[in-house]
Amino acid sequence: MADVSKKNWYSWYFEFNLLYRILIGLGVGIILGIIFKEKILWIAPFGDLFVRLLKMIMMPIILSTLIVGASSVSPATLGKVGIRVILFYLLTSAFAVAIGLGMGAVFQPKTPLGDFAQTAGREAQAPTIAQTILAMIPTSVAQVIVNESILAVIFFALLFGIGISYLRVSQEERLKNAGNTLYMFFDGIAEVMMLIIKGIMQYAPFGVLALVSGVIATNGPKVMGALAVVTAACFVGYALHIIIVYCGILKFYTGLSIKRYFMDAKDPFITGLVTRSSNGTLPVTMEAADNLGVPKNIYSFSLPLGATINMDGTAVYQGVCATFIALSVLGHNYSLAQMGTIVVTATLASIGTAGVPGAGVIMLLLVLDSVGLPVATGSPVAGAYALIVGIDALLDMGRTALNVTGDLTCTTIVAKSIKQLDMSKWTIKK
Ligand code: ASP
Repeated sequence: MADVSKKNWYSWYFEFNLLYRILIGLGVGIILGIIFKEKILWIAPFGDLFVRLLKMIMMPIILSTLIVGASSVSPATLGKVGIRVILFYLLTSAFAVAIGLGMGAVFQPKTPLGDFAQTAGREAQAPTIAQTILAMIPTSVAQVIVNESILAVIFFALLFGIGISYLRVSQEERLKNAGNTLYMFFDGIAEVMMLIIKGIMQYAPFGVLALVSGVIATNGPKVMGALAVVTAACFVGYALHIIIVYCGILKFYTGLSIKRYFMDAKDPFITGLVTRSSNGTLPVTMEAADNLGVPKNIYSFSLPLGATINMDGTAVYQGVCATFIALSVLGHNYSLAQMGTIVVTATLASIGTAGVPGAGVIMLLLVLDSVGLPVATGSPVAGAYALIVGIDALLDMGRTALNVTGDLTCTTIVAKSIKQLDMSKWTIKK
């Protein structure tokens, strides 16, 4: 067997923190674009390569992660607790997208990136909400996968996943085996896709460098100001979501002390911030739930589920970034119907977002697709998207902190609402 510990001349590249590598790619891309201007455009195919790799992975990852996400909720747990937890997760995520879109409208992050003629026609005939909802129900599953009709694929994947979850708890051995086999099959695919993404992200520093130098060469360095505005809009959105939704519900619906809550909630918050992974933070979130007096039978169901399907921070981020891209390539914001579509897609996309660093930026592809702004090679959308990828690590820190706080808040609120919260833990002075 080959000695894997052997170092090659390029090993340093893989050992060096990916986050820094992407930031360096962004910085070098900006500098090359400023210095060489149009002369750097020969580099474009290297950027296109990155976009193609991401697009390649999009459909399999949505299908597999959504099917696994939906099939991991067993119908038996869908009792009083399950329904409340899932409803809370979905509603807060939808609200988070709306906050993101609101922040986009207030901060107006944009950097004009040229005409988006290709999709201008499509945009002019933006469908009504009724048409969008009907179009979510596919008449041919194969066709919607081939045509990359995201909402329809999501709809089918959710139904399929729920179907598997019923098989898995069937009394009949044959059906149970079939359900478990299917679950393992899609779980396997999802894991393989994660590995492929990890591989693709090793190329991200070069992809970002190539795409960003092209954007700077054709648009000048003013785009950096726009990125600062995107970052500010995301972080203000994250903070508002905590204040309005979490603190609001804790205080006015459950009457719990916010100060006491954050004595324990700060631990997963900070861990999420530094690890950028909801899954990685899970043990800390569980410990916090325990310290807050949530019974184990509730948090052992709701927190792993939340780390898989509840991503409020990612939802805020999708709203802001989708607005940034529309303002930059179309010159104006979305119509109300398109915003409705984004709320639906981004909420569902958050179910399919894996709780690992950087997963949200892949899901942004599908949100953009759903409003007729596909990240196509060589298009201004791809340029705007690359700018987001360049600063994604920073945005991911905040959104993951919010994601895990959302899981814990929901869990605490549900426990309190069904009178199972151990209130003795809330009176003891820490
Ligand atoms: N990093 C996030 C999380 O683990 C997911 C994302 O990239 O949005 O919660």
